[in-house]
Amino acid sequence: MEEDRAPSRAGGLVKLHNTLGRRLVDFSPIEAGHVRLYTCGPTVYNVVHIGNLRTFVFEDVLRRHFLGRSERVTQVMNLTDVDDKTIRGAQEAGLSLGDFTAKHAETFFRDIGRLGIQPAEHYPRATDHVPEMIALIRRLEERGHTYESEGSVYFRIATFPDYGKLSGIDLEQTRRGDRVADDEYEKEDVKDFALWKATKPGEPSWPSPWGDGRPGWHIECSAMSMKYLGERFDIHTGAVDNIFPHHENEIAQSEGATGQPFVNVWLHAEHLIVDGEKMSKSKGNFYTLSDVLERRNDPAAVRYLFLSVPYRKKLNFTWEALSGAAAAVDRIRSAAVRIAEVSRAAHRAGGFPSAERATEFRKSFTAALDDDLNTPEALAALFNYLREVTAATDDGTLDAEGAVVAREALAAGDGVLGVLPAAPEVLPAEIEEKIAARNAARKRRDFAESDRIRDELAERGIVLEDTPGGTRWKKAGSV
Ligand code: AMP
Ligand code: ZN
Repeated sequence: MEEDRAPSRAGGLVKLHNTLGRRLVDFSPIEAGHVRLYTCGPTVYNVVHIGNLRTFVFEDVLRRHFLGRSERVTQVMNLTDVDDKTIRGAQEAGLSLGDFTAKHAETFFRDIGRLGIQPAEHYPRATDHVPEMIALIRRLEERGHTYESEGSVYFRIATFPDYGKLSGIDLEQTRRGDRVADDEYEKEDVKDFALWKATKPGEPSWPSPWGDGRPGWHIECSAMSMKYLGERFDIHTGAVDNIFPHHENEIAQSEGATGQPFVNVWLHAEHLIVDGEKMSKSKGNFYTLSDVLERRNDPAAVRYLFLSVPYRKKLNFTWEALSGAAAAVDRIRSAAVRIAEVSRAAHRAGGFPSAERATEFRKSFTAALDDDLNTPEALAALFNYLREVTAATDDGTLDAEGAVVAREALAAGDGVLGVLPAAPEVLPAEIEEKIAARNAARKRRDFAESDRIRDELAERGIVLEDTPGGTRWKKAGSV
């Protein structure tokens, strides 16, 4: 990467494994303090499966890590709502393309919400950006990268010498492939790809300078990313199956049109597999999030399982691994509850160097994520820290003030991990005040008032539990 780019805002540099060049690079955004990120979104022809969700969680952690480092993030995730698969799916279901894709878009948003994935800044749909795609194809046409054949427009890869720089594909090898095996006879070269596809009977179509038709899949992402992030931006992600041809073609189209580099860093997550085999419907090992939650109703466990493996390694999904992840999440939550209890307790000996340990934890946690998003290493740092803090809650050396520091450090870590229950809409201080008022009412034996306060909080989703150590509160439905 070039030397002249602005340094990252907080701490050291984030190292990322750039698929372009296949090496670790020191990342710094083009615009200081602002990360512009494009994440290939779902093709809305089917319910998303847990493989797709692994990639979306990886992208969410990437986003959260930059936010945690006080960078501004503009993330775009497209919805592919017109392509071969969506058109075929709508025809088979006897629905309009819009009705068919809307149904799947809805389950996608529901599932990313259940997994605590933070919303991106933009979710552009391909069908809302056809004019931008046509304009981009026109630019490619003007620069001599295209040819037209029977109402379709193709990208002529022979005009782009850099073709293959992302995937390392050997064009000579593929060119030797049997021409007859390729069913798109109208193309001049097997590897040329469609930018615009002439309409076929019964398919949705848009008017264009080349006649009615629809965009090719690859041009969708080039047009939408450049619209929202500019012609050159920082990071583009997907899973490994996106490298070729999708991202290779995006580079050819975008750089062919603008004449400048398109994206600085390309990140690709490895696949999720099931019991050692590729997940597929025919094998019956294809799981949606709903399938998984039916067996173990804890989305945070699914999230934790994804984070327990580095994003560039295959993740083997097993029920046993999910149980292990659920147990780990429970340990984090119990530690959080105990720390919160101590933060309200009086008369503790103290002595645990809470500020110092919290700083060390934050440093090692951030350093792990800075190292190409090493989530298992970050989790190890967290457990190390929680072990020390809980030992100090047991022996009384963690006092209330120290517990507040620990609570903040844990919350900062969870800002990236996202496995603790969401903060209630009511402010904790407000809840604490009500607990104090209720305790006072109970002391003066005003049970009508103490019950009233309990009911009022219950209505706002806060459950109180009276324990020998004092009154605890938690969000309804959480542990
Ligand atoms: P699609 O809906 O097929 O366009 O895929 C949406 C995203 O999920 C893309 O980034 C894919 O690369 C990714 N993806 C597809 N299958 C898997 C898998 N088994 N594991 C991880 N990511 C996947
Ligand atoms: Zn894409």
